[in-house]
Amino acid sequence: MTTLPPLRDMIADFGLRADKSFGQHFLLDLNLTAKIASLCGDVSDATVIEVGPGPGGLTRPLLDLAPKRLIAIEMDERFIPALEATGGYYEVPFDIIHGDALKADEASLIGAGPAVIASNLPYNVGTPLLIKWLKADPIYWRRLVLMFQKEVAERIVAPVGAKSYGRLAILTAAVASAQIVLKAPARAFTPPPKVESAVVMVDLLPAEKRFTDLAALEIVTESAFGQRRKTLRKSLGVAAGRANTNADALLKTAGIDPGARAETIPPDGFFRLAKAWRAARG
Ligand code: SAM
Repeated sequence: MTTLPPLRDMIADFGLRADKSFGQHFLLDLNLTAKIASLCGDVSDATVIEVGPGPGGLTRPLLDLAPKRLIAIEMDERFIPALEATGGYYEVPFDIIHGDALKADEASLIGAGPAVIASNLPYNVGTPLLIKWLKADPIYWRRLVLMFQKEVAERIVAPVGAKSYGRLAILTAAVASAQIVLKAPARAFTPPPKVESAVVMVDLLPAEKRFTDLAALEIVTESAFGQRRKTLRKSLGVAAGRANTNADALLKTAGIDPGARAETIPPDGFFRLAKAWRAARG
């Protein structure tokens, strides 16, 4: 059997260039991509989904992990032939989907069994994709290993009281625990982006520890953090109005001081608020 050609040769042979309109910044350092892939853990029992494989720098070490199956979702069709050629060097069942990951129905692509999602995400769709995965019902993944712009990574893992604490940290904490596991300087990418990046590992909480009404949680956190300088009595007015109640009543049910500001309330305070909002809304 012939060996897999080096990634840079494949990029040259298939004439692949980074296209800014697709947010393309390639990872060509195989030590770094192997490290990111290893964060998926043991995936011998799992389907791995990779979003935006591009020329395959992360795809290769993901295939090396020998998952039960790998599904790659790529929007730019120029990469499909190179990915198909790459898959030919591995025994792992490998499905390449040409399409937009924001519109993909991952649960039906996976079928039964656990899944892990790994991606060097395009920056413009990173946050909407994370929210889509957090809101999945039922949740079909057990771990997410995702590269984000550093500021977004910090917002995902932010503890209560931190400057970057807000909606993203609270929605994440509702169903998962998240940590920054790796930092990647701009020079790790080709071409280098204008920002620093970081890999976030998001682990699903056991079912009994999850708060699952993320729709209500989005409404109260949007309202509370939309005017983060104001007290909750003021900032929650919009959300309360949508449930035909007032902020004071919601805060009382949730056991939260109406004079407090959003950034001082830990995630479980917002879970109680979301519950109170849902009860008022009926
Ligand atoms: N994974 C490759 C790597 O690390 O070298 C490429 C990473 S590049 C930052 C992002 C990739 O996501 C590109 O290949 C781009 O075409 C693809 N992409 C952008 N938006 C997408 C979307 N909505 N759905 C699927 N793929 C997308």
